[in-house]
Amino acid sequence: MSERIFHCRCCGNCCRWPGIVRLDEYAVMDIAAFLQLSQEEFRQQYTRLAPDRKCLILTDREDGACVFLGQDNLCRINPVKPLQCRTFPQHWQVEPELQNTCQGFYQ
Ligand code: SF4
Ligand code: SF4
Repeated sequence: MSERIFHCRCCGNCCRWPGIVRLDEYAVMDIAAFLQLSQEEFRQQYTRLAPDRKCLILTDREDGACVFLGQDNLCRINPVKPLQCRTFPQHWQVEPELQNTCQGFYQ
């Protein structure tokens, strides 16, 4: 069986999937600096507490997509996006029904 090759097509679908984007202290620091905000301003405007209360997570747009997904389907904080976004999908176990919406997988 051949190995699946991945090439992101920048469709933005994974940024619309249900779920949360976790932030560690370094992500808060880097994203705030990138947006030229103080860390407190960034936390107030773009984050909330995770359901398990273990960390902060990014907020969502009204349609459920990540707050940083632009209308052009690109990540507005791409150079400093959180670790879980940078390691997607290589380090993820993606459910088949979601994987089918990712245009980057092909044989
Ligand atoms: S931070 Fe960027 S890459 Fe991560 S979910 Fe949001 S829009 Fe997508
Ligand atoms: S769904 Fe797949 S192809 Fe589309 S932006 Fe996400 S990783 Fe890239």
